[in-house]
Amino acid sequence: MLSKLMETIDKYCYNVDKDFINKAYNFAVDAHKKQKRESGEPYIIHPEEVACILAEMGMDQNTIAAGLLHDVIEDTEYSYEDVTREFNSEVADLVEGVTKLGKISYKTKEEQQADNVRKMLLAMAKDIRVILIKLSDRLHNMRTLRYMSVKKQKEKAKETLDIFAPLAHRLGISKIKWELEDLAFRYMKPNEYYELVDDISEKRVEREEYIKDIVVDLHKNLEEANILADIDGRPKHFYSIYRKMVNKNKTLDQIFDLTAIRILVNDIRECYTVLGIVHTMYKPIPGRFKDYIAMPKPNMYQSLHSTVIGPQGKSFEIQIRTYEMHKTAEYGIAAHWKYKEGITEEADSKDSEPVKADFNTKLTWVREMLDWQKETTNPEEFMESFKIDLFEDEVFVFTPNGKVINLPSEATPVDFAYKIHTDIGNRCIGGKVNGKIVPLDYKLKTGEIVEVLTSGITKGPNIQWLNSVKSNQAKVKIKSWFKKAKREENISRGKEVVEKEAKKQGYNFAEFIKEIGLDQILKKNSVNSLEDLYVSVAIGSTSASILVSKLKESMTGKSSVDTDETALKDIKEHISKEARKEKAKKTYNPGVTVKGETDILVRFSKCCNPVPGDDIIGYITKGRGVSIHRKDCENANNLIKQDGRRIVEVAWGNGSEAYVAEIQIKADDRPKLLTDIMEILNSMDTNIQSMSAKAVKGDIAFVTFKIKIVDISHLDILMRNIKKLRGVMEVYRTKN
Ligand code: MN
Repeated sequence: MLSKLMETIDKYCYNVDKDFINKAYNFAVDAHKKQKRESGEPYIIHPEEVACILAEMGMDQNTIAAGLLHDVIEDTEYSYEDVTREFNSEVADLVEGVTKLGKISYKTKEEQQADNVRKMLLAMAKDIRVILIKLSDRLHNMRTLRYMSVKKQKEKAKETLDIFAPLAHRLGISKIKWELEDLAFRYMKPNEYYELVDDISEKRVEREEYIKDIVVDLHKNLEEANILADIDGRPKHFYSIYRKMVNKNKTLDQIFDLTAIRILVNDIRECYTVLGIVHTMYKPIPGRFKDYIAMPKPNMYQSLHSTVIGPQGKSFEIQIRTYEMHKTAEYGIAAHWKYKEGITEEADSKDSEPVKADFNTKLTWVREMLDWQKETTNPEEFMESFKIDLFEDEVFVFTPNGKVINLPSEATPVDFAYKIHTDIGNRCIGGKVNGKIVPLDYKLKTGEIVEVLTSGITKGPNIQWLNSVKSNQAKVKIKSWFKKAKREENISRGKEVVEKEAKKQGYNFAEFIKEIGLDQILKKNSVNSLEDLYVSVAIGSTSASILVSKLKESMTGKSSVDTDETALKDIKEHISKEARKEKAKKTYNPGVTVKGETDILVRFSKCCNPVPGDDIIGYITKGRGVSIHRKDCENANNLIKQDGRRIVEVAWGNGSEAYVAEIQIKADDRPKLLTDIMEILNSMDTNIQSMSAKAVKGDIAFVTFKIKIVDISHLDILMRNIKKLRGVMEVYRTKN
């Protein structure tokens, strides 16, 4: 049993004390001796396999030991202290870290999930190895998922696809990511999985032949150029093929790169030489070449990719990279763990230098996610952006100085601006791409040179930007700007209200502060600063009149005229006033009550444009609230005939919004008629929404106005005044 682990350690790890591992193994065997796996096998198989996966990643001795002991604290009688005493505190910390993550129950609720993710991020920020153990644990559990109930299988599979596989991807551990995805795919969608496996194996022989020929040709050409390379045809993973088929709506036959050919060489210079040779052998497809060596992916992946047209006109993908890059491609952050540890290998080449710095970049991502998590109060929103961030594809653009900036795909110049600096984002007024001005919702493409135009003053972001930006960073910054801006607005509004109220009650607010003391005032109102107090007044959680009355009381030492009862009434009034305002905003209810209710969605019918003062009726529409008609509206009368039960009583409230009325004027078509009418409208401060005029039979004019009026009396006076004009025969409101 143990020999498998020891062999793996020999193959992939350095400086591991086998006695130490042996001791951990025996400790785990003893601790779990009463337990069995779901499969009926001894429990120790599970921790041993987990340790093997960690050893394959080339992890250090403490991590491998922690892999063996990872379930000890949770499942057995041994404690953190026991593990520390028997081994060391680093091993104990790792085991405890995994145990804490294990306690997470992944419910469907987004809130729960967001909290779990937060815990994982925190654990990662503390020691990334905890997550590597957790991923190995999950991988072995997925490999043995068949022993679980179907319900459990689906749950685990979904969670694996949602969180663990993307996490592995983010950390660059593609080997684990692919296996997790294929296993989860099998349990999530068994029918699709087995159908795909069958379809692929059917064509396997044919495809293998094809690839074999290409590999032979490549070897021949590379040998001529004196390049030693490992070449192999790598079949793509089931889940990635399946996703491609679903996302791009293609059949298996239409996906040409089922197999990618991978060429591994010694150094970077050879990578580019090989690329040149490949492109002389096979025609490259334009736009499919990607240089991830010059521009590594955020998960540290480096490689050259190109899709070329091979024999028989079939295209295939080719990937060229160094052995070192390959290790990173498979094990991601785990491959770089040893650099942090300061262990060097003989195989280290100069190539590893640029990637080394990315270890910190990786942790930067974890820290960034934690920051976002702190700033995003809505758990659903956080989970959404977390998932997007895990999966997201990137574009790489340049600053005018040639610095590479990577952004989520479809990012805009605004994303770019915020990535450079928050202040640049807040002052952003335009963007230039390759020297040309572009709109701010322009979707950036890899390779473009981006410049941000800023204004001298910080005028702040536009709320509309939230619809087009793609990065979490930009979203969070924009939102927090608005939150802050709103606060400033509330401070000044609250201050104004408080000062006005003080004056009304015969005082000066500054007097209160001087007499009572700011500290006392803040304490009494349980706020931390004067600004907070103003905000609290502005948003209605503190009533200005009660505040001032209380201050008066403290100052004079005797109860003010305001009794508790009036104070209570005050609050109620304030609240209901605010509520009414809110409701009015939401329902666009311009002051009509429906059977005494004010918060029902009403719409003014376009056929008769009722205005306050008109006799009106309401008609309950299907799904669009109550439509308001004038009682003399013909449409309304038809509606009553059709279905009288839908008619409801409505009445005008006392809103102060403007209403639209349409009036028509019949008059002699004389010069200056329109000017005269306009003059009357102007003199009565009436806004015109639209106007049309036509002459009939050469001497009679019909002029139609849509105007905004305050109420029926406003309209009456207006119509009477127009009627007084010379040559006007009739003035009436249109009905249809
Ligand atoms: Mn486990």
